[in-house]
Amino acid sequence: MHPDARNLIAVRVVVVTTLLIGSLIIQYTVAQFLPINYVYVTAGLTYALTLIYIGLAQVIHSRRTILMIQIGGDLVVETFLVYFTGGLDSPFSFLYLVSIITASMLLQRRGGILAASGAVILYGVLGDLMYYNLLPLPEQSWFVPTPWTSSRLYLNMATNFAGFYATALLTSYIAEKLQKTTEELDANRQNLLELQAVNQNVVESIPSGLMTLTQYGTVSFVNPAGCQILQVVPLTVVGHHITELPFFDPAEWSQVRDELKRGAVVRREKGDFPVNAGVRCIGYALTPLRTIEGGSYGYTLIFQDLTEMKKLESELRLKDRMAAVGELSAGIAHEIRNPLAAIAGSVQVLKSSASLSPQEQRLMSIVLKESERLNKSIAEFLRFVRPQERVPAEFDIAGTLAETIDLLANSSEVQANHTLQRDIVPPSFIINGDPDQIRQVFWNLARNAIQAMPHGGTLTVRTVVDERQYHILFTDSGHGMSDAGLRALFTPFRTNFPSGTGLGMAISYRIVQDHGGRIDVESKEGVGTTITVTLPAAKHSERSGESTKTPRESHVAAV
Ligand code: ADP
Ligand code: MG
Repeated sequence: MHPDARNLIAVRVVVVTTLLIGSLIIQYTVAQFLPINYVYVTAGLTYALTLIYIGLAQVIHSRRTILMIQIGGDLVVETFLVYFTGGLDSPFSFLYLVSIITASMLLQRRGGILAASGAVILYGVLGDLMYYNLLPLPEQSWFVPTPWTSSRLYLNMATNFAGFYATALLTSYIAEKLQKTTEELDANRQNLLELQAVNQNVVESIPSGLMTLTQYGTVSFVNPAGCQILQVVPLTVVGHHITELPFFDPAEWSQVRDELKRGAVVRREKGDFPVNAGVRCIGYALTPLRTIEGGSYGYTLIFQDLTEMKKLESELRLKDRMAAVGELSAGIAHEIRNPLAAIAGSVQVLKSSASLSPQEQRLMSIVLKESERLNKSIAEFLRFVRPQERVPAEFDIAGTLAETIDLLANSSEVQANHTLQRDIVPPSFIINGDPDQIRQVFWNLARNAIQAMPHGGTLTVRTVVDERQYHILFTDSGHGMSDAGLRALFTPFRTNFPSGTGLGMAISYRIVQDHGGRIDVESKEGVGTTITVTLPAAKHSERSGESTKTPRESHVAAV
């Protein structure tokens, strides 16, 4: 059964029952003269109709039809009541209005007009029948029928009919308005829910950290990405003042707030942002949080971890610089070498002339010797800045490393107060690359480590193998590097070592780069330095089945 039909039935039963009980109470307590037969009849009629409605509702499923039938039935019952209580004199004619209002509310304007028309017909016919005495007055003792004139009859009818229709139109208008408002409200509520869901999703899933602050600077919300970036849980942040986090210290905060008041967006970057015992580079922007009306009720803080990006950026910049330096130096070296060859050649010819004094002979020899030395230096330098074609081969990198350390241990650089520790496991590991170049890298790094410990110390060389990479770590207990030193580490010709050229790290960088690897540096002034070389493991360690074939083929191709 449709809920509207059911409700109407329920309300009707309640109203009629209340009327019945009320009448009975009055009848047996106060006014024992009330002839209440008509109440019984009305109530009985209504109960009977109710049963019929319930029965009909099982067969008729159209809400409109079942409601129309009920309201029609009500109108008939009301007409009976009006008849029993004095016809045109009855005070119960207002009951028609109740049915008309019900119809207008439940069935809109058409239902209302229909009910009003029904009421007009029933009331009109009843009134006419009674007026013309075609219908006898019921036996009633409690009301005195008044004599009716025809003009009074028509005035009564006209006012009642106008009232019925006016009620129908007005109620249905209000009902429709109500319906429309309800629908709009529902739609708006739905939109709001959707918007909330979208907002929630956006806030939860953006990769940037997002915090909202109250106007006093207390954190009121932080999104999951924010927690991830700061390595915190919301509980430790929400409800705390922003100055308890490393974004702003109290002085900075009041200054930032002044800036925001002037309408600026505050953008900052902190390279030494402490996160979970380490430091990260965090970029953040603070903006006022505005309500739709334009009022401000706090701030939003959006932040991102820029550490990886910065690292990548500086690596790229370094790569660029190295490439440029390489080209430039090679070009200059060439420009020197050619004239040098001409000079040396000419002096050689002059030197063989017999007319030279021994003094002149000696000077010429110096020129020749020096140009020879210069040429060698340049050749060396060229080899450094433009490493010779890589000859890729499979070789035992662990063996090469051990040999290089041995070599260094026996060189004059290593003093008695230097300790060399090695932890090379496994003792043999095959990678693909140029063994000479790799040896050069190891030599440069190990020698730097020793040179960084002029008063003695320990150099530890350690290897770590993971799935696809081979890491070699050179850890010294030397004087370390300042931030500026660290930044200039790979820049050619920057040296702090007494006999340095400033090329070692630049060349090592280039070689490792060529091998598809990377160099990472960690240094603390006065404590020491760890330089990590990471090289890709030979491919065949990943695809063991075809291991022997491919390298040999490629080797043949290279030859
Ligand atoms: P060189 O050894 O000729 O000076 P490098 O390119 O090898 O040139 O090194 C550049 C500079 O980097 C050094 O002069 C030194 O200041 C610094 N450096 C390199 N390795 C270390 C280290 N292990 N500890 C401290 N400083 C280092
Ligand atoms: Mg060096």
